[in-house]
Amino acid sequence: MAIYPIREYGDPVLRMVTKPVDEIDDSIRRLVADMIETMYDAPGVGLAANQIGVGRRVAVFDAQDELEARVMINPRVIHTEGEFEMEEGCLSVPGYFWPITRPAYAVVEATDLEGDTVTYEGDGLMGRVLQHEFAHLDGGLLLDAMERRVRKKAMREIHRASLGL
Ligand code: ZN
Repeated sequence: MAIYPIREYGDPVLRMVTKPVDEIDDSIRRLVADMIETMYDAPGVGLAANQIGVGRRVAVFDAQDELEARVMINPRVIHTEGEFEMEEGCLSVPGYFWPITRPAYAVVEATDLEGDTVTYEGDGLMGRVLQHEFAHLDGGLLLDAMERRVRKKAMREIHRASLGL
C-alpha cells in the first residue's frame, strides 16, 4: 500500500471527467487500498481517484458511522431530496471550510470491489460525502456548489493564501 500526495486546487487533473472502470482487477484493488490509506492519512472522510492523479471513476469514503471505509466504483446519483447547509471542506483545498447548500439526502448506486451493485444512501455527512465525491469524478469541486457570494470570498481566501499573504 502507498500514500499518495493529494492534488490541490489549480491542478488540471481535478477538472477532468474520469473514465469508467470496466473490470475490477488487481490494479483497481490496489488503487482502492492506496486511496483508503491516503484518505485516512490526510485525514479526510472521502477521496476521489483524480485527487491522487488517477482519472478513473473510483472514490472511497468513511461517513464516520459504524461502517469503515467504503468504495464506490462507477457511481451514479439516482435520487436526491431536500436542502441542507453544512460547512464543507475538501482535501484538495486544504484548511478551509465554507457553508455549502446541497440536497440533504442522496442515493447513489455504485459497484463495489466484488463487482456487485451497492446502494449508499443517507443524509447528514453521508449525504454530503456521497455528493461531494461524485462531483469530483466529473471534474467538480466544492467551489462549484457554492452560492456566488461564498464563492467570491472563498476564491479571495485561496488566492491570498497562494500568494503567501
Ligand atoms: Zn474533495
